[in-house]
Amino acid sequence: MPTLLVTGGAGFIGGNFVLAARKLGYRIVNLDKLTYAGNLETLSSLGADPGHIFEHGDIGDRALVASLLATHAPTAVLNFAAESHVDRSIDGPAAFVQTNVVGTLGLLEATLAYWRGLGAKAAASFRFVHVSTDEVYGSLGHDGRFTEATAFAPNSPYAASKAASDHLVRAFHHTYGLPVLTTNCSNNYGPYQFPEKLIPLVINRALGGQPLPVYGDGGNVRDWLYVADHVEAILAVLQRGMPGRTYNVGGNAERTNLDVVQLVCGILDRIAPRPAGPYEALISFVADRPGHDRRYAIDATRIGNELGWAPRHTFETGLESTVSWYLANRGWVERVIDGSYQLERLGA
Ligand code: NAD
Repeated sequence: MPTLLVTGGAGFIGGNFVLAARKLGYRIVNLDKLTYAGNLETLSSLGADPGHIFEHGDIGDRALVASLLATHAPTAVLNFAAESHVDRSIDGPAAFVQTNVVGTLGLLEATLAYWRGLGAKAAASFRFVHVSTDEVYGSLGHDGRFTEATAFAPNSPYAASKAASDHLVRAFHHTYGLPVLTTNCSNNYGPYQFPEKLIPLVINRALGGQPLPVYGDGGNVRDWLYVADHVEAILAVLQRGMPGRTYNVGGNAERTNLDVVQLVCGILDRIAPRPAGPYEALISFVADRPGHDRRYAIDATRIGNELGWAPRHTFETGLESTVSWYLANRGWVERVIDGSYQLERLGA
């Protein structure tokens, strides 16, 4: 099976992708800077798997990327690496520009040089897959959904940095012919998500009997996709997508934030009831996030029609699996929260 250079493969979606791709037999070279969001414990089930080569480093380090490409001769690069949390981008946008924009540019330049050195057959089948977000499109009113033709209108520093990286990726196709593909996906949830994000945050705080913060009136709407379905979409784009194309990926599962929190509470009431009463009593409304986009909704018709992809999970089945996973893997979450997950990178 071919070798893939995966960036950000110690993060949430990249980690789920690496585990799935190894099951399919792909050899993985995993380049990750191990920021606070990188967690090698996510990959511990791989053990000493010779088909998974981990490299600690930055996507913007052109010399490192060039040497990984030359040494391992991958047939594709998949870029998951990013600063990914909107709230952190509001507090400190510079890191987002550094990794998501400058870093992606470095990765693109090193990849372009490698691709230009390939023989005609290998160059024709080579792919650069860039994993991005629906947040680049901005906010919707009550109606309509984002299509691949929707103009970018990013509202948070995170979204702006991802939009800039998407533009660079697109430009490398139009200017240099690099065979790139971009996915713009809605909110993911599932195993191994860092507990700063809504769903794992709510599960974890509920189990600890802590207040469950909901921004504003809880009415902000997101489309939700189970991470395993996103991984399948990325594999479909890698294997069958048309270079130069972008593909929207979504779960057809629009929910308000309040709906999401109430659904999590309902599942927990059933499978881990609280002696003090229903978990919903813990919900606490907090001041809204500045510039909070009201609604995102994805039209995923293209990837369905062209690549035959559709999500396998409904929001209800995916959420049930996710809550069960967090209950069965309390240790993973606890080691993230107490910081001990970061000791693994030091070999401690
Ligand atoms: P994450 O924050 O969980 O993981 C990001 C990973 O990238 C971490 O392992 C981190 O250590 C690594 N990283 C950060 N900066 C790096 C750098 N300069 N060089 C190398 N590695 C670096 O993010 P995620 O939720 O897994 O998201 C992965 C990608 O998918 C991102 O590009 C994100 O924009 C996109 N995306 C996420 C969602 C979502 O809901 N989580 C939805 C759509 C798209």
